Amino acid sequence: MVEEKIGWDVRWRCSWCYTRYTTDQYLALPMVPADPTESDPQAGHGYLAVCHCGKVFHRDKWRLQEFVGNALGRFWVSTVDLELNHGFNAGELWYETMIEGPDGQFSDYQPRYETREQAEAGHHRVCHDLKRLREDGLSVAEPETPGVQ
Ligand SMILES: [Zn+2]
Repeated sequence: MVEEKIGWDVRWRCSWCYTRYTTDQYLALPMVPADPTESDPQAGHGYLAVCHCGKVFHRDKWRLQEFVGNALGRFWVSTVDLELNHGFNAGELWYETMIEGPDGQFSDYQPRYETREQAEAGHHRVCHDLKRLREDGLSVAEPETPGVQ
């Protein structure tokens, strides 16, 4: 009997070599402690799977991160390869941008993308818009000229 693997079951993908794993295959990979300094990883931060290429899932994932300053403060823009398909059975969404504001709160705006090219473009667009937010804020803050209709 041939065991068929349906598409949505392939949920994990290495962000270095792009090898895909079902959850069963992912859980069968060799594991390393998430925090090598912990004497009991099971009680601490647990273990991370290691891809056949040597990359440690989560810890070594692809990421594009930077601070963007504007009149409101300093924002942290982080775009990462989630390594877990967040599109589920509706498609493939491997990347996500998160924005942390000066107050330490994360924005509800968390665009997701299928490809790294889309993720890089989305990341740069978010940074560009955040910089413009400063300019818009300054222009809005300019006082109106009194007496002009
Ligand atoms: Zn790999």
